[in-house]
Parts: sequence; C-alpha cells; structure tokens
Amino acid sequence: MKERELDVVVIGAGPAGEVAADRLAKGAKRVVVVERHLIGGECSFYACMPSKALLRPQQLLREAGRVPGAAQALSGALDVDAVLARRDEVIHDLDDSGQLPWLRERDIELIRGHARLAGERRVEVDEVMLIAREAVVVAVGSGALMPSIPGLEAAEPWTSREITTTHEVPSHLLVIGGGVVGVEMAQAWRSLGSEVSILEALPALLAHEEPFAGEELREAFEELGIDVRLGARVTSVSREGEHVTVELEGAETLTGSHLLVAVGRRPLTGDLGVQTVGLTPGRVIEVDEHLRVPGQEWLYAVGDVNGRSLLTHMAKYQARVAADAILGKEASLRSDSDFDGVTAPRVVFTDPELAAVGHTLHTAREAGINARAIDLSTSGTAGASFHGCEAPGTTRFVIDVDDDLLVGATFVGPEVAEFLQAATIAIAGKVPLRRLAHAIAPFPTRSELWLKLIEAYGL
Ligand code: NAD
Repeated sequence: MKERELDVVVIGAGPAGEVAADRLAKGAKRVVVVERHLIGGECSFYACMPSKALLRPQQLLREAGRVPGAAQALSGALDVDAVLARRDEVIHDLDDSGQLPWLRERDIELIRGHARLAGERRVEVDEVMLIAREAVVVAVGSGALMPSIPGLEAAEPWTSREITTTHEVPSHLLVIGGGVVGVEMAQAWRSLGSEVSILEALPALLAHEEPFAGEELREAFEELGIDVRLGARVTSVSREGEHVTVELEGAETLTGSHLLVAVGRRPLTGDLGVQTVGLTPGRVIEVDEHLRVPGQEWLYAVGDVNGRSLLTHMAKYQARVAADAILGKEASLRSDSDFDGVTAPRVVFTDPELAAVGHTLHTAREAGINARAIDLSTSGTAGASFHGCEAPGTTRFVIDVDDDLLVGATFVGPEVAEFLQAATIAIAGKVPLRRLAHAIAPFPTRSELWLKLIEAYGL
C-alpha cells in the first residue's frame, strides 16, 4: 500500500469539513480532504438548501396573502414545476463540480473515496495510506435514523434525502416524526399539493422548543389541512404496490402513497475504522471543548458526528474552533461561546416560522437560572401590521432576573428568522437589559418587539 505524509487529513467535505480544511489551508497547512459522495455534503444537496428552496415560495405566497392589496394580486396556487426547477438549480442537479475551484484555489487536495481510520494518525482510502503529521479531523456527518418498526425497511421509506430531491409530488405523504424535518417537509409538500399526515410519538410538535411553538404550528398546519396526530405510535408498516400503510397503537391504520421517516439522525461511524483507535463503531465521537477526542491529541470530530448540535452553523463554528486549535491558537467552545447543544441558535423554516436561541424557560430553570419569561405577540407592533394583518405567533424572552440578562428567546410568527441575530448578539455579548433599553429600534419596524420587551420588563 502506498503511504503519503501530510499535515492534516479531513474526512468528509460537508460544511464542517470544508470550513476546517479552508481555515487550515489558510494557516499554511498541507491538507487532504477525503469525500466519498458530494463536496458540500448533506446540507448543500439534501437538507438545508433544497428544503429552503421548497419552503420559501409558500412562505412568500402566504405572506402576500395576508397583506391587503397584494392579496388581490395573487392569481392562484404555486407553480409546482417552477418550484422544483428552482430547487434543482439550488442543488445543481446533484453535481458538485462547482465546489472544486475553491479547493484548487486554496491548494487543498481532494481524494474521492471512502476513508477509514487505521490507527493513530493513519487514514486508509482505497490503496493509499495517508499519514497525518498533525491531526485527523473527522467530519463525516450523520444519516437518517431508522426506528425498528416491523415492516418498515421492506416498505422502502423515504428519508430526508428522497423528500428533498424528488420530482414526484406524493399524493399522500405519511410522515413519521414531528421534529424539524417532519414539520418542514410536511408544510413544503402540502403547499405543492400533497395530502399530508404527521405521526409524532410525543404529545407535541417540535417538543424540545417552548410549548407554545409546537401548539401554534399545529394550529396553522390544521388550518392548511395537514392531518397532525400527536402521541401517535407506529406499531407496524406494510406496502402493497403503490400504497403504504402504517398501523398505530390502538389498531388504527392510515394509508398513503409515500412514507417519510424523520425521527432523528445517527452518526456515520459504523464503517469508519474507529475501533482501530479505541472507539465504538456506530456511536457519536465524543469530544472535549477543543473538539478533540479525549486521550487522542491528534484526533478531532466536528459537526453532526460528535452529536453536540446537529446544525450546519454549529458544525461550521466547531470546525473553526478545531482548526484554530490545530493551528496552535487559543480556541475552545466554552471560552468563546455559551452556545452549545440545545442552546444553539436555531430556525425552523415553516410558516409560522420558529427562530430560537439560548434557553427555553424549562431548560433555563433546569440549569438553575432564576428565570422569568416575558411573552409578547410577535405581531404586536405597528411595523408588524405591514407584514400581514393579525398574523399569529408568540415571542418569549427568557431573562435571568438575578443578573438582568437575556438567556433565551423564541420567536414564532411570519418570517422571524432574521430577528434571531439580535437576540444571539444580546446573549453572546451578555448585554444587560438596562443597557439593551438604549438599543433603539426604528419605528415602524418589527424590531420594536425589543421595545415591548423593555417596557414589559419595567425599564
Ligand atoms: P428531530 O430529533 O428534530 O425530530 C424527530 C422527531 O421524531 C421527534 O419529535 C421524536 O419525538 C419523533 N419520533 C422519534 N421516534 C418516533 C416514532 N417511532 N414515531 C413517531 N415519532 C417519533 O429529528 P429530525 O426531524 O429527523 O431532524 C434531524 C436533525 O436535522 C435535527 O437535529 C435537526 O436539528 C436537523 N435539521 C435542522 C433543520 C433546520 O435547522 N431548519 C432542518 C431539518 C433538520
């Protein structure tokens, strides 16, 4: 077997691998990236990017429909072919050649193939053994988790990959899981003409968020004709030709044309040679605050594979920290940010949209914070009236009353994603509320929500 020595091997070219490789190359390291599928990873081709392309048109149409004058100009439903064509453009018809120039520009070598760890600092790709002088960065991501439900595998369910890239509008889409993938895809395909049923085992959609978020989303979904079943446990699945049937606890059955499984993710460590460095295949790779595997100074894991926060922006953030640590800079998650795990900034691109950062009231109290919630109507400002009359949605600010600091914010309403960064900055910067009171929001913008917060807090 041919041996090659270089500074850093990055396994996986999704957002985490790309950012790590880029930063290391800029830091004058000799970097090889190994990728077995597409440069750009799950996010660019099968997740964040295509899902937003599918969701944005209905969001815009619904917003226009709420604004008198614009509403009268609407002539009908979405143009399905145009939406799917735009989606295909966004994912470059699953062709990653557009990603190659930046690798060349930074002098990063790309090896296409399946990499496996082969002991300390060693990575095997086909007939080549790469030897990393400094570090190996594992950025292999995650795949869809398949629950062990009798008959499920034989029923050929779709995962996020198929539902984001299909050219076929399912006539009746059954969705197992009312988490982020489940709710986004339910709304996207409902807007493109599918009948949709969501089967969520817990008593709420988006169960980890503030309780009002899942409830407001459920109300909106039911108005759209989406069949939402909460506390629904699927006991078996079967397929007969074009029809797929799920049986629920209590013996009720539901038949549809397509089945999407969206019950979470699993780290792609099953065939990665992790046992050669003392780790367990199929498990997340646990890391410390430098994204380093404890006891293995040379081994880093960034992105979904470490199980900390399964979000592209968090993967990119972790990759920056890991690359800086490899470059010998002071870099650590905790010293630089309070956002990790469930407190990461997060957006669910439905309508109403959910944007949240930091603690919910529940997680704040669990963390021992003397927390108070201030609840406001997201559309309770003059500015909001121009974005749609009486659009529903609640905003909650969670405040640490001992320190007079914002520790969490959840916005539910039309297009609230861009609200989030102000809250993220306030939390990351630990800006006391009495100081925030002087961050004046222009009239009439929706940002006057911050003024409403200050007033409600009594400042
Ligand atoms: P998730 O963890 O968000 O939701 C899974 C849901 O499935 C949970 O509500 C869970 O209770 C339910 N569930 C589990 N087993 C079930 C069963 N047998 N029957 C019925 N319901 C069951 O996972 P996901 O929606 O698959 O998303 C995967 C990851 O991708 C998440 O970490 C998410 O943050 C990320 N993601 C992010 C975005 C975004 O940022 N907008 C979009 C899509 C996905």
